[in-house]
Amino acid sequence: MNQIDFSLNIAHLYPDLLNIYGDFGNILTFKNRCLWRGIDVNVVEIKAGHRINPDEFDFYFIGGGQDQEQKMASEELLKNKERLKKAAESDAVMLAVCGGYQLLGHYYQPMDDKKLEGISLLDSYTVAGKKRLIGNIFGKCSYIKDNTVVGFENHSGLTYLSGDTKPLLKVIKGYGNNGKDKSEGARYKNVFGTYLHGPVLPKNPIFCDYLISLALKRKYKCEIPLAELNDFIEEKTHDACIKIAGK
Ligand code: GLN
Repeated sequence: MNQIDFSLNIAHLYPDLLNIYGDFGNILTFKNRCLWRGIDVNVVEIKAGHRINPDEFDFYFIGGGQDQEQKMASEELLKNKERLKKAAESDAVMLAVCGGYQLLGHYYQPMDDKKLEGISLLDSYTVAGKKRLIGNIFGKCSYIKDNTVVGFENHSGLTYLSGDTKPLLKVIKGYGNNGKDKSEGARYKNVFGTYLHGPVLPKNPIFCDYLISLALKRKYKCEIPLAELNDFIEEKTHDACIKIAGK
């Protein structure tokens, strides 16, 4: 096959509003794991007022944030609801973390404030609990090779999934979506949500490569094998996080 110049367009949604616990590191990881393989990457920061073109992007990322910033992000996301829904239904790859994850569902009900409307890409809803769910967490993902995914969670929101929206992980250690049903995160088509901060992708290179592969397959309409990378440090970090979470 002739050498194709592969490229991916990334939309970083509201980085000035939702970007806590180093969630920006997810963009850096996705971008670098592409560039290290000769896949060109263009990152566009989507700020307030930006009208998203659903045909422009291959991967969307939105990070976490506190209730106040979530309120502003909710208003902005709603302005792009139909366009983001079109992207999701066309199998665009999305990763949403914590506060951003909550807003991809139907709503997030903070403890002492009015309900924040979500954009319903995920069939889920979130209500704030009295206790913050904080700590190291890991779980098993059925479609990730070696299938553990590790991270750090800090949320008061309790998320519940329905319909075709299925968990990302089965919790082994930690709280997950609601501390009760052993689910963590969510997936609908290629839309992924998770409570895992850290950021999540550097410590889970296989998960990151899974997202890259999905984005390439959607854009180029065929499986694109990814060159192996030296993930010695990433794997050591991943294993150390499992040990810490298991204590
Ligand atoms: N404000 C939300 C909660 O506490 C999300 C927090 C976050 O993004 N870490 O559940």
